[in-house]
Amino acid sequence: MSKIYNIAALKGDGIGPEVTNSTIKVIDALVETTDLKINFKYGEAGFYCIEKYGTNLPKETIALLKKTDACLKGPMTTPQTPGAPISAAVQIRKMFDLFANVRPCRSFPNVDALKPNIDLIVVRENTEGMYSGIEYELSPGVGVALRIITKEASLKVAEYAFKLASKRKKHLTYVHKGNILRVTGKIFKDAVKSLAPKYPEVKIDEAHIDAMTMHLIKKPEFYDVIVTTNLFGDVLSDEAAQVTGSLGLAAGANIGKSYGMFEPVHGSAPKYTGQNVVNPIGTIMAGAMMVEYLGEKQAATKIEKAVIEVLKDGKIRTKDLGGSSTTSEMSNEIVEKIRTL
Ligand code: NAD
Repeated sequence: MSKIYNIAALKGDGIGPEVTNSTIKVIDALVETTDLKINFKYGEAGFYCIEKYGTNLPKETIALLKKTDACLKGPMTTPQTPGAPISAAVQIRKMFDLFANVRPCRSFPNVDALKPNIDLIVVRENTEGMYSGIEYELSPGVGVALRIITKEASLKVAEYAFKLASKRKKHLTYVHKGNILRVTGKIFKDAVKSLAPKYPEVKIDEAHIDAMTMHLIKKPEFYDVIVTTNLFGDVLSDEAAQVTGSLGLAAGANIGKSYGMFEPVHGSAPKYTGQNVVNPIGTIMAGAMMVEYLGEKQAATKIEKAVIEVLKDGKIRTKDLGGSSTTSEMSNEIVEKIRTL
């Protein structure tokens, strides 16, 4: 009998519930039509929890995550007031040492991208850097935020990126700002370079973050795997997503040694809450990455194929893709494709 996977589902807030429900519907259709067995266990997290629990990540939710094989997470609004709880996603990434944030961006059929044949993956360090959470006001009007870079975390993310590149087009680009952030930049660069002899088949090159934002627009098809520190990776992956057509298409995996959390690259887009207009594909593709992480490659490929077929048909297009279809029309069409593939 095939294994039953327990998945924590955190729907989040803003457009989170719409895109997460769409993904659960797609995975349920996959379960109905394949041998895959998935049990969703629902938990609460996000901005809306703060009033109720005093935190955006209640302890019951942390306990739930610990009992599951992986987490499907919707986007969540992050409080911006100093002293308020920090992003729930950042807390989970640190708590479970989900050191690699893996964000693929590729050209899709019938989607206007800046260039054809884009197929790249941004691998972002996920536990430190500018997201260390150490930020304070030194004296009125003078603030400090600490960018923590360690050899240990840099090696972990670099190793992940090398392995990924060696299975793909064997090209790894490491991105930094070593000309200005010389101490932390050097630790990151040295960690990447120290692993190069272990992967002689992988060609490596480097770029400064500012130049990289330009290269990504000018020649995105040149890149394969891009590895970088936390904030630079966050910025580059949103840019890469739009270069391929829409932020609404981009999926992300947060990978650690023994747990994975899967979510869209985009945030909670509060102005679209409850309007049924956003694109659910980013979260659905995050669902496919989760199914692959569980070891069910064939089932994951079925989700990807269904998404690509729906885009190829071109009948259903959400607003970000230049159409007027709703979130539920898009997810229903993907469900129908899953049933017929
Ligand atoms: P955002 O990604 O939520 O939205 C930016 C814009 O991108 C939207 O206005 C919309 O035009 C477009 N967009 C986003 N998702 C889309 C979709 N599925 N389909 C179509 N278009 C889409 O970024 P933001 O406005 O900077 O952040 C809003 C909130 O989300 C903030 O509170 C932020 O902290 C939070 N956030 C959370 C996560 C997370 O949970 N991992 C990630 C990023 C941002």
